Amino acid sequence: MLYPLLVAVTRRSRGRGGGVQADSGARLLDSDGLTGREAAARLRRDGPNQLPAARRVPWWRRLIAQLTHFFALLLWFASALAFVAGMPELGIAVIVVIVVNGIFAFVQQERAEKAAERLGELLPTTIVVRRDGAVRTVDARDLVVGDVVVLTGGGRVPADLTLAVAGRCTFDESTLTGESEPVLRTAGAAVFAGTFVAEGESEGIVTATGANTRLAGIAALTTSVRRPPGPLDLEIQRIVRTLAFGSVGVGAVFFAVSLLVGISWQDAFLFAVGITVALVPEGLLPTVTLSLAMGAQRMARDNALVRNLEAVETLGSTTFICTDKTGTLTQNQMNVVEAWTPAGTVAVRGEGYAPTGEVTGPEPAVAAAATAGLAGAAASKGGITLDDDDEWRAVGDPMEAAIAAFAARLAGPGAQPGPVTRRFVFDPRRRRESVIVGGQLLLKGAPDAVLPRCADPGELVDRAEEALADMASRGLRVLAVARRTLTDPGVETDPDLAERDLELLGLLGMEDPPRTAVPAALRAARGAGIKVAMLTGDHPETARAIAREIGLLGPAGLVVQGKDLPEDDQLLGALLDRDGIVISRVSPEQKLRVAKALQDRGHVVAMTGDGVNDGPALRQADIGVAMGEGGTDVAREAADLVLLDDDFATILTAVEQGRATYANIRRFLSYHLTSNVAELTPFALWGLSGGQFPLALGVLQILCIDIGTDLLPALALGGEPPSRDTLKRPPERRHLVDGTLLVRVFGVLGPTEAIVEMSAFLVALLVAGWRPGGEFPTGAALLAASGAAFTAVVLGQVGAAFACRSATRPPWQLGWGSNRLLLWAVLAELVALVVFLGVGPVADVLGHAVPPLEALGVALLGIPAVLVVDSVYKRVRRRWQ
Ligand code: ADP
Ligand code: MG
Repeated sequence: MLYPLLVAVTRRSRGRGGGVQADSGARLLDSDGLTGREAAARLRRDGPNQLPAARRVPWWRRLIAQLTHFFALLLWFASALAFVAGMPELGIAVIVVIVVNGIFAFVQQERAEKAAERLGELLPTTIVVRRDGAVRTVDARDLVVGDVVVLTGGGRVPADLTLAVAGRCTFDESTLTGESEPVLRTAGAAVFAGTFVAEGESEGIVTATGANTRLAGIAALTTSVRRPPGPLDLEIQRIVRTLAFGSVGVGAVFFAVSLLVGISWQDAFLFAVGITVALVPEGLLPTVTLSLAMGAQRMARDNALVRNLEAVETLGSTTFICTDKTGTLTQNQMNVVEAWTPAGTVAVRGEGYAPTGEVTGPEPAVAAAATAGLAGAAASKGGITLDDDDEWRAVGDPMEAAIAAFAARLAGPGAQPGPVTRRFVFDPRRRRESVIVGGQLLLKGAPDAVLPRCADPGELVDRAEEALADMASRGLRVLAVARRTLTDPGVETDPDLAERDLELLGLLGMEDPPRTAVPAALRAARGAGIKVAMLTGDHPETARAIAREIGLLGPAGLVVQGKDLPEDDQLLGALLDRDGIVISRVSPEQKLRVAKALQDRGHVVAMTGDGVNDGPALRQADIGVAMGEGGTDVAREAADLVLLDDDFATILTAVEQGRATYANIRRFLSYHLTSNVAELTPFALWGLSGGQFPLALGVLQILCIDIGTDLLPALALGGEPPSRDTLKRPPERRHLVDGTLLVRVFGVLGPTEAIVEMSAFLVALLVAGWRPGGEFPTGAALLAASGAAFTAVVLGQVGAAFACRSATRPPWQLGWGSNRLLLWAVLAELVALVVFLGVGPVADVLGHAVPPLEALGVALLGIPAVLVVDSVYKRVRRRWQ
C-alpha cells in the first residue's frame, strides 16, 4: 500500500517539471491526501497512533514490593521473633501492621499514578493533515499510514514519515540519536516519530504509526531508565531516613534500658523492635506522593497542567516569574485598527476576524493600505475561515488572521496574489517572514527588522519611524509590510539577499487587549512577594504601553532592550532583580541568560515560552511554562507546567496550589509526629523509673493508633483547601521538617497530649485505689488505666487534627465545614476508638479495657486541651514576631 502511494507522489511532482519546485519547499505537496473514509478504515485496521503502554510491573508484584521493602523485612523478622518467644498476639499484630501498611502504601501509589496518567490525557496533541483535499487538524492518535502530514517549525513529528517536500527544513533528532544539532532533511528522507521540526516547513507521508514506529522500538528498550530524583524526593528521603534511624536509635536505647532494669533480653528485644516499628514513618512517602498528585489534580481543574509531580512543590516556592506578553498577558485577539502608508493614514473598525468593517481615510491612503494588507496576508501562513456557526475564526497565528481580515476589509474577500513559490519563514532572530509570488518578494515583519532594509526615497523611513513611535506609544503592535520585484538572478534562494532594497508599503497597527484577569493576578503576585518581568519580542514602546496598562510597570520599573542587557552575568542579575521590569526585543538566548542570572541570585524562576527556540530557557528555568493553546510542541515538551488557557493569571493559581500542597504535607507531618510524643512518653516514664512505674501504653496499642486511628485524619489533612492567605505571604524555601515544625510538635502539641494521657492514666489508677507511694495495681485495674491512656491519646489526636489545619490560626477561624473530609475522618476515628475499647476480644488482644468514668472525663479533656494550648501558642508566636 505504501509504495504505490509514494511513487505516485514523486511522479506527480516530477510531472510538474518540479524537481526544483519540490526541493524548494515553497509549493508544498500537491496531493489531496487520503479521503476521510479511507483514513477511518485504516484506523480501524491498524489501531490508533499511540505508543503501546509501557509494560508495567503486574499489580501483585507491586503489592509484594510494598510488603518486602527494608522496613517491612524488619517487621517480618520481629514478628518471627515474637512467635518464637511465645507471644503469638504480638506476632500476628505485627503481620497485620505489615499488611495494612503495605496495602495502604499500594493504594496511595496507585491513586497517585492514576492521577498522573489522567493529567497526561488532558493535553491532546493535534496535528495538521491533508485529507479530502483540504487541510485539517486532527488528533495525533487518529493518524494512519498514508496520511499527508503538514510539518511546521516547533512541531513534533507525530509518526514515522517520508518527506515529500523539503526545502530548508531541519529536524531536531536528539530524542532518538542524542545528537543536539538539528539536521537538514530533504525530500525522500525518513523522519521519525518523537523528533521535532527545528526550522522550516515541509510535508511528509506517514509510513508507520504507533507500535510500528522506530520510537516505539526504542521506548521498549528504555522503559527501565529512571528519572533522577528531584529536590522534593531527596528531601523526603532525608526525612524518612532521619526518622527511621531516629526510631531505631530510640529502640536501641529502650533495649538497653530494659536490660538494665532487669527484663529478659528476649522481652527487651521485642520491646525495642515494637517501639521502632511504632515510630518508623512507613506510610510517609506514598502519602506525600498522593498529596502532590491531589495538588496536581486541583491545578489541572484550574487549567494548570504540571508535567511532573515535583513541579507542584517547586511552583510553591517560585520567587520570580518571567512572562511573555502576547497571548499570556494579552488575549491574542488581534485586530488591525490603523494603517500608515506613504500616502496617508487609514483607520479601520471591525468585529473580531470578520472580513467586513468600516474604513476611514483619504482615497489614495485606502488604496495603498489595501495593497499593504494583501501583501501582508500573502506573506502569512495563517488566515481566517468561516466556521460552522457562521463565525469568522483565526486559522493559525492570530496576528496573521488579523492581517487577513484587514486585507479583506479593504480589498474585499478572495483577493489572492497568486501561488507562493518560496517562503522564508518567520524566525524570532530575523523577526520577519517573506514569500515569493510571481517574481515578487512580499514581506512582513517587526518594523526595526524591516525599515533598515527599505530603500528610502524622500525621507520615507523617517516618516515611518515617527508613525511607528506614535502607534507603539498607544500600545499597538506594529508590523511593517514591504515588497520588492526580484530581477537579479540568484537572489531568490537567499533570504538575506532577497530581503533588501525593499519598497515600504506601510505599517499595520494592531490592538491586542490585555486579559481581564491579569491586573489582579499581578497584584496577587506582588502580595505574594513574587517579582514579575515581561520578556517580549515586541517593540519597546508597545511593551511599555501594555505594561503600564496592566500595572506591571511599577515606579521602579524599567524598559530595556535585549541587546542592551549587560554582558556581565552579575551585573545582569543585579539589573533584573526588581519587580516590573520589561525586556523588549528579547531573543531566546537572552531569555536563557536571564533565567540563569536570576537563579544565580537565589531566585526560583518560572519562565514562559512558546517558540521553537525557547526550549533551552524553559529547561533552565526552575519552572518552564508553555502554552496549551498557542505555542509549539517543542516548548510544551520542555515545560514543567502547561497553561491550558494560556493565561498569566493561571500561573498565580498554580503557585497558590503549589504552596497549599506543600503546607498540607507539613500539616500531616505535624499531626503524625505529635502522636509519636504521646506514644513514647509511657516508655520513657517506665524506663526512667527503672521499671517501677507501670507502662501506660503497649506496643500493640501504639500500632493501633499509628496505622488505625491516625490514618484517615492524616489523609484528610493532605486535602486541606488553600488557606485564604496562601498568597499573602512571601515565598519561602524551607525544609519540610524545620525548627518551627519541630518546636510546635515536640514542644507544644506533643507534650500537651502526653500530659492529658498520663493524667487520665493516673486518675484511673487512683480510682482503683492506688495512692502515691503505694504499690501499683495490676490486672484489671491496670488494663482499665491503660484504656484511659489510649483514649486520651486518640482524643488528643482529634484535637491535633484540627489544630494542624493551620500553622498560624486556630481552627475556629477556618470554618469547621471547610474540610469535610476531616470531619468524616474524625468520625471514623471515634468509631474506631469505640471498637478498639468496647469490643471485648479486640480490647483483650490490645491489652486494655474500658476506663472508669472519672478517667474517661480526663481523657475527654484531650480535645480542648490540645486546641487551647495550640491556639495560645499561635497567639504568642504571632505577637512575638
Ligand atoms: P512576542 O510574541 O513576545 O511579541 P515574538 O518573538 O513572537 O514576540 O515576535 C517578535 C516580533 O516579530 C513581533 O513583535 C512582530 O513584530 C514580529 N513577528 C512576530 N510574528 C511574526 C510573523 N509571523 N511574521 C512576521 N513578523 C512577525
Ligand atoms: Mg510570539
